[in-house]
Amino acid sequence: ALLESYELYNGVKIPKLGLGVFLMKDEEELVEAVKSAVEIGYRHFDTAKIYGNEEYLARGLKESGIPREELFLTSKVWNYDQGFEQTKKAFQESLDKLGTDYLDLYLIHWAAPKFVETWKAMIELYEAGKIRAIGVSNFQIHHLEELKNQGLMQPMINQIETHPEFPQHELHEYMKANGIIHEAWGPLGQGKSGLLSNPVLVDIGQKYFKTPAQVILRWHLERGEVVIPKSVHADRIKENSELFDFSLTDEDMAQIATLNTETRYGGDPDDQE
Ligand code: NAD
Repeated sequence: ALLESYELYNGVKIPKLGLGVFLMKDEEELVEAVKSAVEIGYRHFDTAKIYGNEEYLARGLKESGIPREELFLTSKVWNYDQGFEQTKKAFQESLDKLGTDYLDLYLIHWAAPKFVETWKAMIELYEAGKIRAIGVSNFQIHHLEELKNQGLMQPMINQIETHPEFPQHELHEYMKANGIIHEAWGPLGQGKSGLLSNPVLVDIGQKYFKTPAQVILRWHLERGEVVIPKSVHADRIKENSELFDFSLTDEDMAQIATLNTETRYGGDPDDQE
């Protein structure tokens, strides 16, 4: 069940659950977390050049002994690498660090000023068969519309901050209407919100013998989102994977909807320009 997936519009399958490795700076800690995750059944890992840990992730995966074709690897091009030639160079650097010759998903990390040129480079890499799927992150509707207006292929995924305090209703509906998969970053509110002890989530969880973290992650899945919760602790990595043996009712979903406070914990995508 851990290997349930969504199908992107080009037919590539993305596992619904992955492990995010943002802020994992300690090599040994990351290697151990990745090995635990693989053992639990995770096959999808989300990193980025700016996280500075692509090499550590590669080491963890190598030590876990899982064949490359069973893995789904995502990385992202950082703002200072944007532009047509720079993006292709940054992509090759990420491949080298990850010790692989293709990526499953490559994303534009933020809509920095050269995002259109960056996107053209991503399309070229995709068409050359070096990336199985391409997408963006932190794109607002107007950024997505800009790519459309340029007559360019549309992203297969948009990875955006999403949690019950920031459900992104408008962007979510736009992406659904346009066949773009919604991937949630900070799915648990980055540990900065009070969500993990919120009484509404505690109460819902008690009905299913689930923790607030599991209720939140299931809420994302009910909305059709990919989730990439981060933890370095094997017990939490396991907890965050036990999402496929229950579901939330419409009433549960309606109660969780009341937690929306339109609160971002991360950066504002419109401040990148
Ligand atoms: P998150 O919402 O996954 O929260 C992670 C924190 O929640 C952990 O540090 C831990 O403190 C806590 N936690 C995790 N599991 C728990 C559990 N079961 N019980 C209690 N506490 C728990 O936040 P995140 O790491 O920022 O986001 C997930 C991933 O999204 C990142 O690792 C990264 O891969 C990606 N991300 C992308 C962007 C972007 O701009 N594209 C930005 C931030 C994060």
